[in-house]
Amino acid sequence: MTIRRTTTAAAAIALAATSLAACGSSGGSSGSGSSGTASGAAGGETIKVGIKFDQPGLGLKEGSSYSGFDVDLAKYIAKEMGKTPEFVEAVSAQREATLQAGKVAYIVGTYSITDKRKEKVSFAGPYFVAGQDLLVRADDTSITGPDALSGKKLCSVKGSTSATKIKDQYPNVQLQEYDTYSKCVEALSSGSIDALSTDNTILAGYAGQSQYQGKLKVVGKTFSTENYGVGVKKGDTATCQKVTDAINKYISSGEWQKAVDKNLGTGGFKVDTSKNPPKPAACA
Ligand code: GLU
Repeated sequence: MTIRRTTTAAAAIALAATSLAACGSSGGSSGSGSSGTASGAAGGETIKVGIKFDQPGLGLKEGSSYSGFDVDLAKYIAKEMGKTPEFVEAVSAQREATLQAGKVAYIVGTYSITDKRKEKVSFAGPYFVAGQDLLVRADDTSITGPDALSGKKLCSVKGSTSATKIKDQYPNVQLQEYDTYSKCVEALSSGSIDALSTDNTILAGYAGQSQYQGKLKVVGKTFSTENYGVGVKKGDTATCQKVTDAINKYISSGEWQKAVDKNLGTGGFKVDTSKNPPKPAACA
């Protein structure tokens, strides 16, 4: 780990790719046969996949291991393609550009399907339906929902639907936009902001972390519908179709439910079973 940190980023990626390829080669020698369709980022046995690194329960990097609901799906999709995933961080504001530049073959990162984003990228899915909510300090009884945020300092993340919704519908809120949600959580815990707004899945993941247990709480009244999709390069229908097939199999085989049970139970989170699991749309 420390050795990799002292190397250049490119060398670190090369090292990771080499070791992953070495590990993955026992899985099957036929994997490289399907490499041509998964956009420029896919090559040989490994495939570059964008995820979040700082969202417990969804996409979390701890040392060299990755966990979470999105990570499990990302791995499953790669396996269905006969590849070994090589994870790359894709923070909210960088997702479209990362796909457009071909730096990753797909992104599984609490990525809501929206018409605006569809102008730049394509989506497979949805594979999960979440909703925007608020995270506050446990002793705060004043913030009961987005209408109670006037004069309060709210944190959200650049390039997210969460920040856009606040700016469009609650313009009197003092919104601070950070790069990542984990930075917002630190600011909430230290008292420099009053609330954090994003998807209930993400908020529950933080509320359930041992260092925040009993200190932070999710308000529990969602005020949006977030259809999570897997982002692919715009117009890459071949990858989109493979990902869609993988999502359908993930849900019908029971793996989706297993991943929900394993990853999404913390912080009092309850999956909205009236919307989940969703039916993935056809690739356009
Ligand atoms: N699902 C929302 C979005 O795609 C918020 C979470 C995130 O930023 O990843 O913008």
